[in-house]
Amino acid sequence: MKYVDEFRRQDLAKKLSEDIKREADPERQYNLMEFCGGHTHAIFRYGVQNLMPFNVRFVHGPGCPVCVLPIGRIDNAIQMVQQHDVILCSYGDMLRVPASNRKSLLKVSAEGGDVRMVYSTQDAIKIARENLDRQVVFFAIGFETTTPPSAVAIKQAQAEGLKNFSVFCNHVLTPAAITNILESPEVREIGSVRIDGFFGPSHVSSIIGSQPYEFFAEEFQRPVVIAGFEPLDVMQSTLMLIRQLNEGRYEVENEYIRVVSREGNLKAKGLVAEVMELRRSFEWRGLGMVPYSALKIKKEFAEFDAEKRFDFPAIQANDVKGCECPSILRGVKRPTDCNLFGTVCTPENPMGSCMVSSEGACAAYWSYGRFTQPNSEQESVA
Ligand code: SF4
Repeated sequence: MKYVDEFRRQDLAKKLSEDIKREADPERQYNLMEFCGGHTHAIFRYGVQNLMPFNVRFVHGPGCPVCVLPIGRIDNAIQMVQQHDVILCSYGDMLRVPASNRKSLLKVSAEGGDVRMVYSTQDAIKIARENLDRQVVFFAIGFETTTPPSAVAIKQAQAEGLKNFSVFCNHVLTPAAITNILESPEVREIGSVRIDGFFGPSHVSSIIGSQPYEFFAEEFQRPVVIAGFEPLDVMQSTLMLIRQLNEGRYEVENEYIRVVSREGNLKAKGLVAEVMELRRSFEWRGLGMVPYSALKIKKEFAEFDAEKRFDFPAIQANDVKGCECPSILRGVKRPTDCNLFGTVCTPENPMGSCMVSSEGACAAYWSYGRFTQPNSEQESVA
């Protein structure tokens, strides 16, 4: 296949759907977690859940970078604007995420704060070059995919001698979060969340490769299939997971071979390792403090680290009352379990991060109108 529409072909989807129905054992349940918000959107946008038999269910995971950032870190970004008069450069999604006291970066901007939406780290560097008398901070969020550009920006600022540029580093790591979910009481003890296998993220894996998942596939005996973002990718990966589970295998397989290798992108990984190192612990919305799950800027590059340059405290902030984002991010609840879904909380008036981001589960449920999950054979549509 060469072009993207080939990964959306109806005839192939129908065939895969039939294969999955034939091979899924009706005596067992298959709960498959898609870690990444990109998969959640593919599932809803193309109605993939409706092509599954009743006993194959997708469980939505915490792989939306905007969703997992705790409110306290957004409060910190707001502090930098309001107390240190910085120009804060941020990706668009972050601007609308509710912070404490019903604030958001968008509201701070409306009140006169200098918050600018950027599309890349290079936009932020350009703003720094054009405003040498102001401090410019890039609000860096995201998983392993967006980390290399932040490292590049820091090295570039160093090479250019830019004294007014720094990065507020909030980059988080996928394998640590998956391990945390598998070790959570809901999965291990209470059993309220059952996860039989994982779809490995596609873009993240293009950087880190498939190798980092091998540990927990073996340790926790859960198969992992690295899956592309197109509907046929998700369906083929579902079939691969079902086959592994039927055969009692717990391996890492790679469906997304057109992009992902076992080793990943060595150049990008080397660049990140040069500029950043592991944090001992980092707070995730929904997961709490997760050991070694995020990166910080190395002390050799401290002058480009906003956390070193500006003095701000760690803030423990609560989510909006009634917002179920933390439980949704852990796979414990679904968006429709939230009383605010579609009433108080909509994409136009989001109460939580899961409704803001284009990768959030609540936004996916809302945008594609598939508010219910098939729970019987009759309800699933072939
Ligand atoms: S619907 Fe809104 S309030 Fe409810 S969990 Fe989702 S983002 Fe939070």
